[in-house]
Amino acid sequence: MPASDAPSSPVQPYDLAVVGGGVSGLSAAHAARQAGRSAIVLERSAAPGGSVHTLRRDGFLAEGGPHTLLLSDPRVSDWLEELGLLAQAVDANPAAAKRFILRGGVPTPLPYSAGSFLFGGWMSAGGKLRLLAEPFRHGRPPAGEESIGHWFRRHFGEEAAATILDPFVSGIYAGDPDQLSLSAAFPRIEEAASRHPSAVRSFLRTAKERKKSGGRRPKRRLVSFPEGLGQLPATLAAELGPAVRTRQDLQSITRESEGWRLTVNGEDLRARRLLLALPPEALARLPLPDDLHGELQALTTIVSPPLTGVAVGYRREQIRHPLDGFGVLCPFRERRKILGILFDSTLFPGRAPEGQVLLSVFLGGRRQEDPTVLDEDALRARVLGEARDILGIEGEPTLFHPVHWPHAIPQYDLGYHRYGELFDRLETREPGLTFAGNTRDGVALGNCVLSGKDRAEKILGIA
Ligand SMILES: Cc1cc2nc3c(=O)[nH]c(=O)nc-3n(C[C@H](O)[C@H](O)[C@H](O)COP(=O)(O)OP(=O)(O)OC[C@H]3O[C@@H](n4cnc5c(N)ncnc54)[C@H](O)[C@@H]3O)c2cc1C
Repeated sequence: MPASDAPSSPVQPYDLAVVGGGVSGLSAAHAARQAGRSAIVLERSAAPGGSVHTLRRDGFLAEGGPHTLLLSDPRVSDWLEELGLLAQAVDANPAAAKRFILRGGVPTPLPYSAGSFLFGGWMSAGGKLRLLAEPFRHGRPPAGEESIGHWFRRHFGEEAAATILDPFVSGIYAGDPDQLSLSAAFPRIEEAASRHPSAVRSFLRTAKERKKSGGRRPKRRLVSFPEGLGQLPATLAAELGPAVRTRQDLQSITRESEGWRLTVNGEDLRARRLLLALPPEALARLPLPDDLHGELQALTTIVSPPLTGVAVGYRREQIRHPLDGFGVLCPFRERRKILGILFDSTLFPGRAPEGQVLLSVFLGGRRQEDPTVLDEDALRARVLGEARDILGIEGEPTLFHPVHWPHAIPQYDLGYHRYGELFDRLETREPGLTFAGNTRDGVALGNCVLSGKDRAEKILGIA
């Protein structure tokens, strides 16, 4: 065991105990270790990785959780480089730049050129005109916090909101645009649109100023790895070695003069600092001292709707659709029983055996019934029926593998900032405690990586 993984003597506390072995918790422990501090990660389940769940089955490489990591912040790329993962990152196939939405039951490409904007059948002529009128017609912002749905409708019109925003929000949050807060869930959009009452003029102004100052928008890459996104937590866990403990059942966490005592699987561990990288429902159930436990009950009002992702394989000739894009998303008004279908083997070629293709069908989220409770026959009928209808499929699949998420992604609804304020308040009161992960700092994988790293460095006083 490297010296920095464990305290120098058994009675010495760890510098940092991390509860939760998802990407956020692993990144936190990795940051501590990089700075020469001792850290331990306590993970309840049998394997680290949390929502990241790659599986190999019958020659397919499938993702049960996230499919892509967006590299837009250079800090995430630097961090991947440190881990030796940047050189291995596989870019999404350029053919997957084309995205389909379902319109009248037909997969219809979203515009990718001026010609397809004007002449494509993705929206009515009136809807397109309303969209183009945004610089002159953008309504007044409401007095209080605004939902992304309200904001988008105000600027771009009803039809664009139903056609573009709705499936985009489904794709990221499996959420409801009228409940998600613009500032909490989409802070970058809010910031980019804040320079002028017209969002379009604001985006143009930012671009112009950036050009004038010689600055460039950081290159955005959508990536995975040869062994899927699971390679990310697997690499972190391998680096951390025995510092990552799985199947850990925390019985109690108590304060001590030097920090914290954690009773786990009947054993007592001590740590100077404690970092909790857990989803909201797990944070609220953690056996913390009564006062903290009481305060964290506020998190039980966070909604994390259930979601099921099903990896489905077919022989190529069974599917009529050319699968020439990222996938097809189903706007709510299409009233389908699925949220969308990703074309995995187009997005990252090589993920299906020769002559076959891999799809991922998602269902559930904020506005559909809970798919995690369906029995296998009902789920199969629903998934295959919808896929058949949308993509023109004949015959039975060669692979059908569901992964259920009873609490998939926390919804950053209107009022979500109050949870951030709660974490800030608890940290001020309790200097040895911090919170990281997708409950607090954004749900995208890149946010989680930076959340774990930054929060660990801050609490450990690492410059
Ligand atoms: C289906 C799905 C698709 C997604 N798609 C994308 C995508 O394409 N791109 C993207 O960027 N993001 C995507 N996301 C979001 C992203 O994957 C997550 O936000 C991110 O992985 C969360 O990481 P985390 O470490 O904060 O939390 P988690 O991954 O939830 O990890 C928390 C860990 O804590 C453990 N735990 C819980 N309770 C305890 C306890 N009492 N003691 C110890 N351990 C405990 C859990 O077992 C888990 O391992 C997706 C999420 C889902 C569910």
